[in-house]
Amino acid sequence: MTLYGGIETGGTKINCMIASHPNDIRASITIPTTSPEQSLEQVVNFFKEQKKAGLEPAAIGLGSFGPVDLDPQSPAFGSVTSTPKPGWQNVPLLQILKNELMLPMVFDLDVTAAAVGELTWGAGNGLKSLIYLTVGTGIGGGVIADGKPLRGLVHPELGHIPLRRDPQNDPFTGMCPFHGDCLEGLAAGPAMERRWGSRAEYLPADHPAWRLEAHYLAQALWVFIVCFSPQRIILGGGVMSQTGMFPLIRKETLQMLNGYVQSPRILNEMDAYIVAPGLGSKAGILGCVAMAKQAFDTAANEVKPC
Ligand code: ADP
Ligand code: ZN
Repeated sequence: MTLYGGIETGGTKINCMIASHPNDIRASITIPTTSPEQSLEQVVNFFKEQKKAGLEPAAIGLGSFGPVDLDPQSPAFGSVTSTPKPGWQNVPLLQILKNELMLPMVFDLDVTAAAVGELTWGAGNGLKSLIYLTVGTGIGGGVIADGKPLRGLVHPELGHIPLRRDPQNDPFTGMCPFHGDCLEGLAAGPAMERRWGSRAEYLPADHPAWRLEAHYLAQALWVFIVCFSPQRIILGGGVMSQTGMFPLIRKETLQMLNGYVQSPRILNEMDAYIVAPGLGSKAGILGCVAMAKQAFDTAANEVKPC
């Protein structure tokens, strides 16, 4: 059985995995994100130890927190670029790991990896288009269009769209350092904590925070549906573990669209249209494994000159 590796570098932790499939996970580890030197050394050690134990992946998928440089022509390809995370600006992640691990690697944004994971093995299996949105320390998303991650000038930044905020109802002006009250500035976990004075996980289920949160997320989904026309929207991340928000988000999104998008998936099947990740909290890391598998399979199928 061919094995693939995954490395998901997040703001607080880094996940590594060796697997062939979600039902065949051979090894995994979670490493705290400290300095790049320290954290990446632990990543490299994990793969070296697994190799000694006989587990060597054919390729590795690397999914990083962003923003990242995804342009293969750019000298900074494979780097984290302008992150506020101390020590991580302009770190050539892909290059460092490739040099150490000496294996074929593919690189993408962590949320894009999660979208690929859900498309391959999760709630998006069988579809051609979907959006995976994470609502956690930040808000970001991966867009799959026509079976492939959507890329453009750089990559989509779904967390930084402007929203309608009613100052009477919500005087909190948002905390995005770039835009104030964009989606991430208003609705990521830290924004909830700042607005309500308590970490989101400690807010009771009947707290008004959840209705407001669902309202902002529904506005965002309205935008994503009319812009990208995804066949399904998958909502993950720590804040979305409050599953009570799903019915509120579905209902408000439907109201906001107001019958304009004429698809039975939206008009009659909302419960199956806006859903939780099929791979749960492993969407990102399994997505990295899936990216590696896809790249390996594609390379193997390329017609070789005889
Ligand atoms: P990260 O985005 O750093 O990868 P998470 O997706 O876990 O990690 O997001 C962390 C954010 O999610 C924090 O702001 C935290 O308050 C919030 N959070 C974590 N667990 C829950 C929960 N059960 N309910 C609501 N919010 C949560
Ligand atoms: Zn912003």
